[in-house]
Amino acid sequence: MSDFPAAKKRFGQNFLHDEGVIGAILNAFAAQEGQRVLEIGPGQGALTQHLLKSGAVVDVVEIDNDLVARLHQRYPALQHHIHHQDALSFSLNDLKLANHKVRIIGNLPYNISTPLLFHLLTQKEHISDMLFMLQQEVVERLAASPGCKAYGRLSVMVQLQCRVQALFSVPPQAFKPQPKVISKIVQLVPYEKPLFDIASLSVLENLLRDAFNQRRKTLQNSLKGYFKAEELIALDIDPQYRAEQLSVEEWVKLVNSYVRAD
Ligand code: SAM
Repeated sequence: MSDFPAAKKRFGQNFLHDEGVIGAILNAFAAQEGQRVLEIGPGQGALTQHLLKSGAVVDVVEIDNDLVARLHQRYPALQHHIHHQDALSFSLNDLKLANHKVRIIGNLPYNISTPLLFHLLTQKEHISDMLFMLQQEVVERLAASPGCKAYGRLSVMVQLQCRVQALFSVPPQAFKPQPKVISKIVQLVPYEKPLFDIASLSVLENLLRDAFNQRRKTLQNSLKGYFKAEELIALDIDPQYRAEQLSVEEWVKLVNSYVRAD
């Protein structure tokens, strides 16, 4: 790998070099021949080279000019499948999936991981599953249950749309250069049918923002712009509860009641 350029901090470049960890990630993903696979941020190809060997049809999205040039040189099998783009604006329509769904994998740049997840979720009808390496703290938020400290806006928004499974942690020593944080692998599987029917995701975003920005306040206070205490009680929701005590289903109930009353 010595002919690759030095890591660039602004692109969150921490390259995997621990073969044991690389093997564990690939085992968890288990790419199969003929599947459509998209890797986000292939970097120097630590995961890519093995994905190619699986016989899957692999596309990659990489933002860094220098890495794109090296990937072209090093992996001829990727010709026409390297998308030199910002993953935050990449459209899965560019993959010409026809009726297929794509499996997505990535050791993601941590500085864009949350907006990237939201960007991908807007295209979830094209995605069969995703396996990502993220900062451990973000995985804890994704997978958190109501009542936990880590439970918040991200947990509700993502759990409504995907089955979330935290897999295993990866220490800084597995990367070059080493990040300052512990990383974790998470699997996200978008639901074929929504877990609960929700009238408006944007209303949910607003409610979550107002309630979790004041997470120490009771719902009666933090959501007073939306509901009277009696209305919460009528929905079987205790007005003395705080945002972190409501399940995903209860958040949906609030949204649907608010939209219908509007
Ligand atoms: N997959 C490689 C590995 O595991 O060694 C590299 C992982 S590194 C943490 C993140 C990769 O994402 C880098 O190659 C970086 O250039 C790329 N990247 C950063 N921001 C990006 C963006 N907005 N769109 C696409 N790729 C990006």
